[in-house]
Order: sequence, then structure tokens, then C-alpha cells
Amino acid sequence: MTTTPASTPRCLRCGRPLTSAASIARGYGKGCASLIRRAAVVADLDGFKSSQVDSAREAVADGAVLLLRGRVHQVVSSDGAHVHLATVEHCSCPAGLRGVRCWHIAAVRIVASAGARPVLTLVRPPIAVPSVTAQTIAA
Ligand SMILES: [Zn+2]
Ligand SMILES: [Zn+2]
Repeated sequence: MTTTPASTPRCLRCGRPLTSAASIARGYGKGCASLIRRAAVVADLDGFKSSQVDSAREAVADGAVLLLRGRVHQVVSSDGAHVHLATVEHCSCPAGLRGVRCWHIAAVRIVASAGARPVLTLVRPPIAVPSVTAQTIAA
């Protein structure tokens, strides 16, 4: 545990408090930002359409993908209206539940390959609180 107030912006990858304005705007500290950028290139995204890869990279760059716990990530939809829970294999979105490989999964693969740690503090409001528990897909 740390004594940092919950409102302190934290790096989306490592959870360290962010201090510089540039890092806060990015959602990642400097080192983590470059790790994430590299991950977006080297992550195993075979089988995803290029439009899905684009969406995934954009979401990751926007800080819309957060590791919650275990392998479960939270992915905010492109319009910001929905939060999906996804792993590198499954997703709680309507397409994912039908067994379709959605871009959320691609986004999780990018973040996972950068070695993200669970970050429980949401950095960017407004993000809706997930209404489903992580158990839904972790089970
Ligand atoms: Zn970091
Ligand atoms: Zn999905």
C-alpha cells in the first residue's frame, strides 16, 4: 500500500504516480510510454484486421486499456460509453461473447506484452465504472 492520495494520476502500466504534465496527458510515464509503443508494434496481433489493430493501438495510446487484476483488463469503448472486460483470449463485449475476436482483445495483447501491472486507480475521468465483475470472464 502507498500513502499517495487516490486522486494522484498514475502510470497506466506500472502504477507509479505521474508528476510531469506530459506524462499525465499520456497516461504513462516516459519509460512506460516507450515500452507501450514498442509493444504496439511487436505484440502478437496475427489474425486481427488492420482496422482492429488501429483501434487497439489508438485505445492503448489513449490510456483506455487498464489491467485490473490477474489477466483481466478493462477496455473503454471508442465512444467512451462502455467498459468491456477482456483478456488476451476473451472479451465481455457482445462480439466477444459470440466468440468473435474483437479489437479489445488486440488492445489487451498490446498492454499485456508490455508487462502491465494491475492499476486500480483510474487515471482519466470520465470512465464508467464496470458494471460486470472481473469474475465474469476470469472464471
Ligand atoms: Zn510506468
Ligand atoms: Zn470486445
